[in-house]
Amino acid sequence: MSRVYNFSAGPAVLPEEVLREAAEEMMDYKGSGMSVMEMSHRSKVYDSIIKQAEADLRELMNIPDNYKVLFLQGGASQQFAMIPMNLMKNRKAAYIVTGQWAKKAFQEGKLYGEAVKVASSEDETFSYIPDCSDLDIPEDADYVYICENNTIYGTKYKTLPNTKGHTLVADVSSCFLSEPVDVSAYGIIYGGVQKNIGPAGVVIVIIREDLITEDTLPATPTMLKYKTHADAESLYNTPPAYGIYICGKVFQWIKKMGGLTVMKQRNEEKAKILYDFLDQSKMFKGTVRKEDRSLMNVPFVTGDKELDAKFVKEAEAAGFVNLKGHRTVGGMRASIYNAMPKEGVEKLVAFMKKFEEEN
Ligand SMILES: *Cc1c(COP(=O)(O)O)cnc(C)c1O
Repeated sequence: MSRVYNFSAGPAVLPEEVLREAAEEMMDYKGSGMSVMEMSHRSKVYDSIIKQAEADLRELMNIPDNYKVLFLQGGASQQFAMIPMNLMKNRKAAYIVTGQWAKKAFQEGKLYGEAVKVASSEDETFSYIPDCSDLDIPEDADYVYICENNTIYGTKYKTLPNTKGHTLVADVSSCFLSEPVDVSAYGIIYGGVQKNIGPAGVVIVIIREDLITEDTLPATPTMLKYKTHADAESLYNTPPAYGIYICGKVFQWIKKMGGLTVMKQRNEEKAKILYDFLDQSKMFKGTVRKEDRSLMNVPFVTGDKELDAKFVKEAEAAGFVNLKGHRTVGGMRASIYNAMPKEGVEKLVAFMKKFEEEN
């Protein structure tokens, strides 16, 4: 067996310990005589898996009792529609557009009502987070929407926007469980799990209870009402059962590592190694305004497309894979999620140094 250092933006690296445990339990989960994949989602044994996963997530994020945790399907993208369908009582919402994912959510929002773009960083290829301290938010907006960590561009909000009393909705797909958060600052905090938590397809939605109502937009499908899933404790229909089981293992892993404060320390250490190198390199440059840099996704360029391609190719041959940047930014991007060991970043930087000397 040989494992590479996988810098993919998602689906992404998972803790080896979790993968090994899942492998051990594949044929016979704790004496049940079957794999979790083969199990009824109504069985006692599965019930304890999903309940434990929720309890561990609540503990890790310190989720207040007046928030529900929902394990849903359709990825983060399904939420782009589900949010307006459930929350747009006044048919109006404010969107801050800081990248492709926020833009997609904004465009989807327009299908259901008046989506107002209250700030954007598109003028400079989304390389910064706009000042959100005093935005012109419509009085009757049902919510303010942000993408908290911009996976493609490598920016992150260091302070949350001033929503002027409006409900804050945040896509945290690529920074989920990377650091402690104050859940009570949000109405909805949600993310697809394939970036930092588990297998693609599962989306976790943490939602304040007063936002869960029957009063959705007309013809909202039963499956797309938060109330359906909240009432059924994420078991209205067959959930992505195996995916949730892996998420649960990752929660346990993070707990064992020391929780979100320790995750943040580790992530800061790892990111510093890479950013410090970029800041002194004559060949490689970070593409993002320094104060808005993400701890999770680090885009960089050489300024020469051919040299970028050469780097990606040679890095891959050396065991550092998925470093090619998103097509809209070009260059490279190293995603260094929770499960990327520090050693992986140190070795990548050593490889970059060597590449710089030789080219
Ligand atoms: C990857 C990603 C998405 C899309 O997730 P899907 O599960 O593929 O729908 C949405 N938002 C952010 C911030 C992402 O990183």
